[in-house]
Amino acid sequence: MAAAAARHVGGVVVRLPSAVPRRLPTVPGPAPEESFASWVDRVAVDLELAPGEIVRRVGLECRGSDRAVRPVCYGVALTELSARRVGASTGLDEADLRSMQLARYADGVLDFSGFDLSDPASVTRLSQREWALFTATRACPQCLREVPVWPVWWRLGIAAVCPLHRVLLVDTCPTCGDRLGLGSAGHPNGLPMRLGTLDLSRCNNRRSRERGHRASLCDQTLAELPTTTVPAELALLQERLLGVAHGGPAAVAGRPVATAEFFAALRYLAAAARAGAESDELRDCPAVVPEAAEAFSADQGHRRRALRGGARAKVGMSPPSAAHAAAIVALTSQLLFAPSRTALRSRLARWQPAVPPSHPVPDCLRDDIPYEHPDPGLPEGQQT
Ligand SMILES: [Zn+2]
Ligand SMILES: [Zn+2]
Repeated sequence: MAAAAARHVGGVVVRLPSAVPRRLPTVPGPAPEESFASWVDRVAVDLELAPGEIVRRVGLECRGSDRAVRPVCYGVALTELSARRVGASTGLDEADLRSMQLARYADGVLDFSGFDLSDPASVTRLSQREWALFTATRACPQCLREVPVWPVWWRLGIAAVCPLHRVLLVDTCPTCGDRLGLGSAGHPNGLPMRLGTLDLSRCNNRRSRERGHRASLCDQTLAELPTTTVPAELALLQERLLGVAHGGPAAVAGRPVATAEFFAALRYLAAAARAGAESDELRDCPAVVPEAAEAFSADQGHRRRALRGGARAKVGMSPPSAAHAAAIVALTSQLLFAPSRTALRSRLARWQPAVPPSHPVPDCLRDDIPYEHPDPGLPEGQQT
């Protein structure tokens, strides 16, 4: 490939490959719902090259020095130039390439307002605010045993359970101690250019060079990560939420709403639960498994101790683990899918007094303002 040109954006150097990338040999197409990093890794294995080499050959825009391979917003969003060049070098549709990015959820589960690909600070703000894992992912070891494909939705904050295998998703690797799918995030050299061909059955997080050891990739076998079985009811709730996330009909307590409103309601209800739910409510909720109850209570305890110390309440943050997300899914679903507005109101009344005023009630949870259907063009009977 020709030498890279560079431009300065937001105080950082962005390398622009100066030539149109050559068309690669036939590469495997993305699997349904597959994440971008997962696909790059599979292409790397197929072509017997390192992931960093693939990123260079497909022409992704990278940040930093010539030695480092750090694609701009890797797996979060594609720059216009990256989309064009990857399309040209692989023959894949731009729409398919964009659907592999976290940004595919920008107008629904996630709110990407204020996001600017050329401004790293805006990405940091987004990653602190939105309910998603921007540099890592959760995973179902049983799915990965069958096929080494990591769906994008495993990166969402509401990702708790694999609906297929009815297990809690896994957050961290016990061998390297890092979050799964961290890959080379945070490593100064970015994606590996050498280190041999990937073994897709392994964790592959990049381990720093330790004294006396060479730099390497974590060799934990993913299929051997221990899992926790969950009730079918919780798996079903996760499936319902994913259905809405992927554009299915959204309704709060029977009232149709837009996708973004639905998830705004979920986040508010999660904040309310974190602020006001009592341990007996967790105990009485059949979809809450002990691991989820423990994670939820630990978060509440931590927050309440921090509050006494004067720290800001952080009830609005993304669930820190799949177990915590499972408790959130179980508790909030009781309200989101409540049979009536009355049922929703009476349940919310228990939590609401504890919610900090910095969390305004979304319109779709309020009964004091007139209800507006998200799609006024449709007659009442045809609205979904
Ligand atoms: Zn699975
Ligand atoms: Zn590992």
